[in-house]
Amino acid sequence: MFLKLSITATKNFFIDGSNEPTDNLLGNTAPQYPMFTVQCEDYQCSFTGGETMAALKETEDGAVTRFREYLRIPSVHPDVNYDECVSFLTRQASSLGLPIQVHQLVKNKPIVVITWEGTNPTLPTILLNSHMDVVPVYREKWTKDPFNAEKDEHGNIYGRGSQDMKCVGIQYLEAIRKLQKEGVKLRRTVHISFMPDEEIGGKDGMRKFVNTSDFFELNIGVSLDEGVANPMEELLLFYAERSSWSVEVHCSGTPGHGTLFHEDTSGEKLQIILDRFMTYRQQQKDIMETKPHPIFSLGEVTSLNLTQMKSTLVPPDLVLVFDVRVAIDQDHQELEELMQSWCLEAGPGVTLTFAQKDPNFGITELEGNNPWWAAFKGACNEMEVNLRPMICPGVTDARYIRQAS
Ligand SMILES: [Zn+2]
Repeated sequence: MFLKLSITATKNFFIDGSNEPTDNLLGNTAPQYPMFTVQCEDYQCSFTGGETMAALKETEDGAVTRFREYLRIPSVHPDVNYDECVSFLTRQASSLGLPIQVHQLVKNKPIVVITWEGTNPTLPTILLNSHMDVVPVYREKWTKDPFNAEKDEHGNIYGRGSQDMKCVGIQYLEAIRKLQKEGVKLRRTVHISFMPDEEIGGKDGMRKFVNTSDFFELNIGVSLDEGVANPMEELLLFYAERSSWSVEVHCSGTPGHGTLFHEDTSGEKLQIILDRFMTYRQQQKDIMETKPHPIFSLGEVTSLNLTQMKSTLVPPDLVLVFDVRVAIDQDHQELEELMQSWCLEAGPGVTLTFAQKDPNFGITELEGNNPWWAAFKGACNEMEVNLRPMICPGVTDARYIRQAS
């Protein structure tokens, strides 16, 4: 489509998601903008010689426009300000005619729940969960502004959080919008939750929320949460997550002048620790190599990586930090005892502490008589959607919900 426009009020126009206001739309209607959209609702403007505003708006589906609006909110770590997300979601709830609740268990960490009541609200409900926060950006690595939701001529939209996981949050709302339009009424109540701080472990978000009466009053029967994008013709479905451990091994030793050969040094102990942890890592890697797929099978082994080495002067300590993701069938006590035995081997003054030690969160049963799974799988089969159930190699808020169940 090629539009010819002239504009009488030329102030603060944004073309195709650009954050540069322009007063010269005519100069920008060249063929490189065959599908451009104009945002000018807040400003006085008129068009002549071209399409009407309504026609212009038709160039983009409203769902896409709302998704891009959500992407433009820089809810990015560290120190996320969630205010704009809350007001955006409040507007969405009101446009859907649905009640919204904002819980503040920790200051500036809002938990947003929008509710679509079913015809039988006493039945266990469906929770559609997503998180509002996004991981930090290295702007120099980006070819687009990460918070401008730019759309290219092929319809690709660029922005931090577009996959993880603002698209999912928007899809929940837009699915309800569509069902409402079709006059569909569901038997069960659906809650749509938007959480803070998932990307930093959900400590002030879902982890706290699952222990509140507000959460239990939601009466959740089943919950859907984030997955991961797959370019192949199947949807990856996580039914379990590995447990995340942050293990710190402190190696203390004899202090003394750097010119001498001291006995019992922290460096010698560190060498043993590093060797034992890295040997274990290699064993897990070898198991991984026997698996059919390098990503899909990652959740079936324990991964282990050295992430930090630090030292303290008083007492003279060398500290190794390992990021460990424990496979779901690995006995936690057994693994901890193994690590403790390596510390003993390394010598006196070697101790192990946990900066983080997730329990085993259990799995969602996909076999047997899980009625939720049967219904979900049945619906997917009907729609000819192929599912690949797998263990999530990372961690998400779903682990807290799974634990609460
Ligand atoms: Zn995520």
